[in-house]
Amino acid sequence: MESMRLDHIGIAVRSIDQALPLWRDALGAKIGDRETIPSQQVEVLFLETGETRTELMEPTSSDGAVSRFIEKRGEGLHHIAYRVEDLSATMKKLESAGSKLIYSEPRPGSHSTLINFIHPTSTGGILIELVEYTTGDQTSHPEEERST
Ligand code: ZN
Repeated sequence: MESMRLDHIGIAVRSIDQALPLWRDALGAKIGDRETIPSQQVEVLFLETGETRTELMEPTSSDGAVSRFIEKRGEGLHHIAYRVEDLSATMKKLESAGSKLIYSEPRPGSHSTLINFIHPTSTGGILIELVEYTTGDQTSHPEEERST
């Protein structure tokens, strides 16, 4: 089994377009995919920043989690994402160890991934995203589509 590795760093912004000049023009980041993720109520833009990408997240609705985060704490570092091989198996291990997960089932993320988050109260204050890369199309029941 492949060990976990850092996948990306998520940064909450009010506006991707307003954040872009810093990242693209001043810092020289290469622009990757831009995608709306309805289940997370965000639009995301990935910056190609070496092995670990940087994800800019802009809320698409005022009642999503990222919007509430910005309201409460302002823009800034939102989460750190690690890649895992088998999200469901990792979730089971976390749950049996008493860690609190945000979702009870894996959810579709960007780039045909399945994601979940470990609640900051279980990690010493850091929101940790877990990402499993899947092959093939995601449907509304991604947990039934997993090929193991
Ligand atoms: Zn993320």
